[in-house]
Amino acid sequence: MDRLDRADRVPAQDARMEDALPAIDTYDEEERRFDDQYEKIERPLLGEGTYGKVYKARAKRTDATVAMKVMKLENQDEGVPSTAIREIALLRQLNHANVVKLQEVFCRPGKLVLVFEFLENDLKKHLKSVDGRLTPSAIKHFLHQLFSGVEYCHSRRVIHRDLKPQNLLVDKDLRLKIADFGLARAFAIPVPKCTHEVVTVWYRPPEILLGSVMYSIPVDIWSCGCIHGEMATGAPLFPGDSEIDTIFKIFQKLGTPSEAVWPGLSDLPCFKGSFPKWPPKGWANIRNTLPQVGPTGIQLLELCMSYDPKSRISARRALSHPYLTDAVDRTTLAASVGGA
Ligand code: ADP
Ligand code: MG
Repeated sequence: MDRLDRADRVPAQDARMEDALPAIDTYDEEERRFDDQYEKIERPLLGEGTYGKVYKARAKRTDATVAMKVMKLENQDEGVPSTAIREIALLRQLNHANVVKLQEVFCRPGKLVLVFEFLENDLKKHLKSVDGRLTPSAIKHFLHQLFSGVEYCHSRRVIHRDLKPQNLLVDKDLRLKIADFGLARAFAIPVPKCTHEVVTVWYRPPEILLGSVMYSIPVDIWSCGCIHGEMATGAPLFPGDSEIDTIFKIFQKLGTPSEAVWPGLSDLPCFKGSFPKWPPKGWANIRNTLPQVGPTGIQLLELCMSYDPKSRISARRALSHPYLTDAVDRTTLAASVGGA
């Protein structure tokens, strides 16, 4: 933490003033010391996303495999922003079986490196490897772990904002851990220029798609619903190629909302009374949802995908919903996955 505290106080130009930081000669030396602890495995890259590259690496001291997220912060001449420092300090305190552990942080003006525990896979790749076919018990097991992690974070007022299968890591024992936490807020929008990935809007809730700026914790619950539906049907629910396309895909499945189900809807900046009016399809008519999650699973899906964010279920209540109360915390489900 003290590295963070130091950077919080020291603007970029002061970094060169050696006597300002008696314990650390220069940022270069500190960076060398940090780099020396890890052996970076350059290929294949684990990921290349919004803020930089994710490498696999070996921690020399413990021989453990880690994931290193190296971020170049453009236009941050003033040093790492203090909002980011605060956010990262918060992330470092998160300690839960279903949240990927942030083990170490290195930062200097213009650069930030986060070291996480390593997990073999993410849920997107895992779904692909089983051809989109999970068994009903595997779906429930993953959703239970997802809500456990989300409940833990929400109780500490940390909102994820970008929950999607690529950001859920899965290990060989099918333990699920939430990754890629909080950085959206730490660095605020706009997304830096280095991005290669088109930011997906498929898991975004209707209040954000319709332009609300007053969104909160329920955004993550919507995304959990999208992930649940995707695990059940084997395909993303709302794969729009733009925000408006995604909104229309939501309306086509869930029905175009009205003021009756969502008070305040017509005041949202991007809502138009002229939107087409689609009737709800009903979950039982959406692919194989019913056999995959049963009537209680559909009920939970509906509670997660309530249009009005105020009436969306909380993660805590989701955990005690009848669909999830019999989800057993098994660490090995390998035998029951992929054979549906
Ligand atoms: P981005 O901001 O680029 O989306 P992420 O933290 O989501 O960054 O990482 C990008 C990808 O790298 C993930 O989708 C995942 O496949 C892989 N990855 C991230 N963290 C880890 C980790 N701790 N262990 C293994 N793979 C990881
Ligand atoms: Mg990500």
